[in-house]
Amino acid sequence: MSGTLYIVATPIGNVADFSERAIKVLQQVAVIAVEDTRHSGRLLQAHSINTPMLSCHEYNEAQRSEQLLLRVANGEDVALISDAGTPLVSDPGFQLVRLAHQRGCKVVPIPGPCAVIAALSCAGLPTDRFVFEGFLPAKQGARIARLQELQNDPRTHVFYEAPHRIEECLQDMVTVMGAQRPATLARELTKTFETIIPATLSELHNKVQTDENQRKGEFVLVVAGTQKSEAVIDAETEKTLRILMSELPLRQAAALAAKITGQKKNLLYDTALAWQQVKD
Ligand code: SAM
Repeated sequence: MSGTLYIVATPIGNVADFSERAIKVLQQVAVIAVEDTRHSGRLLQAHSINTPMLSCHEYNEAQRSEQLLLRVANGEDVALISDAGTPLVSDPGFQLVRLAHQRGCKVVPIPGPCAVIAALSCAGLPTDRFVFEGFLPAKQGARIARLQELQNDPRTHVFYEAPHRIEECLQDMVTVMGAQRPATLARELTKTFETIIPATLSELHNKVQTDENQRKGEFVLVVAGTQKSEAVIDAETEKTLRILMSELPLRQAAALAAKITGQKKNLLYDTALAWQQVKD
């Protein structure tokens, strides 16, 4: 009889969010695969979970997966947790779970906290369709290119962001998605300094720029999808704008393109600016 691989969610801040079922499973399995033994050790100890741990992180996941699944095949139950929240969501575990299925092992989720879902639940933006983009690229050119891929996407967008990049990330969102796009900044969810700010992208950018405290901690950024009424430039307008941009300064190119195509000057200027930043 082979065992089971449990994928167990742990708190994203507030330890009281650890579910009864999660604690019970972690007490009963033979081994818990963790990202960082010291970090998880503290959480497990606080809940009288004395199960042995084995490190499993992005640098040793392939090798660890083999070892862990061998134990499952031999009848042991194994659990995977990450530093916080739901494993595999911007965290290790994908290789392990994929291999577990390939080997015919039973995989059981123990659901619980997850920053994407917590942020969506309090953002006040449509949740019927959303796209989780994880962390945007660190380099500005690649980040803008990724944001441009979402330009015509009507689904609500969810991003994770690090404190040292939150300001520049919001600046790029203003440039690509427009200053007035509704968004919600969810900071330090479930923790003492939890802050949930629904505003426009430019208001959020202004807030993190002027208030140092708003640049501290962990962030989820939820951004409204493109509205049907929002102008999105068509192929002909794009061609005109690109030709004019190659001959004229940006503002002039946008103004002239607006006259030729009947599109809004600001939209064309923002679009041209974003293209230029990708090129730079
Ligand atoms: N697996 C985790 C989950 O289920 O949400 C996410 C892990 S990912 C490495 C860490 C990122 O998640 C942080 O940089 C932040 O963007 C987001 N995050 C995690 N906990 C958070 C919290 N309490 N408040 C806001 N964002 C959080």
